[in-house]
Amino acid sequence: MSDSRALYEQVILDHNKKPRNFKKLEGADHSVEGFNPLCGDHFTVHLNLDGDTLTEITFEGSGCAISKSSASVMTTVLKGKTRAEAEALFEQFHAMITADPDAPVDDEALGKLRVFAGVREFPVRIKCATLAWHALHSALTSDDNAVSTEE
Ligand code: ZN
Repeated sequence: MSDSRALYEQVILDHNKKPRNFKKLEGADHSVEGFNPLCGDHFTVHLNLDGDTLTEITFEGSGCAISKSSASVMTTVLKGKTRAEAEALFEQFHAMITADPDAPVDDEALGKLRVFAGVREFPVRIKCATLAWHALHSALTSDDNAVSTEE
């Protein structure tokens, strides 16, 4: 097993068992539900903004280990980021995860998120890994409509 594969499994196990920022956010500025009917993943992402900065981001719900750990890591990475930085990370994350499994990963730009490159070997899991990010994207750019991976 390669080091990156081992790290991938370790991070997913850890965040699935002990998800970070896994709670309701009372009076959140934005709350968006995300569904992945193919897998049964269903999460709500909550966030508070101060001007353009994400001051708080939490999530709740249930789903598979990949969807849950991806949402958990996302919250830890995005707290304190600006709206534009969060959107840029979403684009980089999405590009990485949908790239060819052999494509190089920009470790510096992606930081902790790079461990999810392992998902590229399991294309059916891409929607699990990006679900919370799609909910975040909706919260930052539109009117908080629920998102589904199948629309
Ligand atoms: Zn899933």
